[in-house]
Amino acid sequence: MPRMSVVDDLLALYASRGGEMYGGEPVTQLAHALQSAALAESEGADEALVAASLLHDVGHLVDKHADGAAAAGIDRQHEDVGAGYLSRWFRPAVTEPIRRHVAAKRCLVTTEPGYFETLSEASVISLKVQGGPMSADEARVFLAQPGADAALRVRKWDDLAKVQGKTTPDLAYYRRHLEAGLK
Ligand code: FE
Repeated sequence: MPRMSVVDDLLALYASRGGEMYGGEPVTQLAHALQSAALAESEGADEALVAASLLHDVGHLVDKHADGAAAAGIDRQHEDVGAGYLSRWFRPAVTEPIRRHVAAKRCLVTTEPGYFETLSEASVISLKVQGGPMSADEARVFLAQPGADAALRVRKWDDLAKVQGKTTPDLAYYRRHLEAGLK
């Protein structure tokens, strides 16, 4: 697929499938994606990291068996599905925070006092099927990786992007962020 048409296709994917609810949360997949991206931009993230925030859950949208999986105790590894899918077209600055945003949650639960208490009920349920909190050693290894900081930032925006009725820029606004993240 040509580089630019993948951006069109992704925008179309969110426009068509983004109306589905974000499992167990009071927002749709599209609203969750838009709020994540808006938070990233408001905190000065560069364009690739804004794109990563917008696309961090694309694995749920491209996986036909994602529905209700976490609630059923099944981990579909949407972070790997999403990052793998996008890696054909997007730079690691986009795909790697996506690949690590679940590990970032597992790390933060261990390393940041009070973080667990901020998680939504659905996120606590998925934490369990995703392997639960990291051990202290696992967290140390995770934090020592290049790119860990970007993954932690995407994770924090992800956690906050669950507000019913919040106003954000629309999908088309993020076209340039997506284009900036292409290889
Ligand atoms: Fe998310």
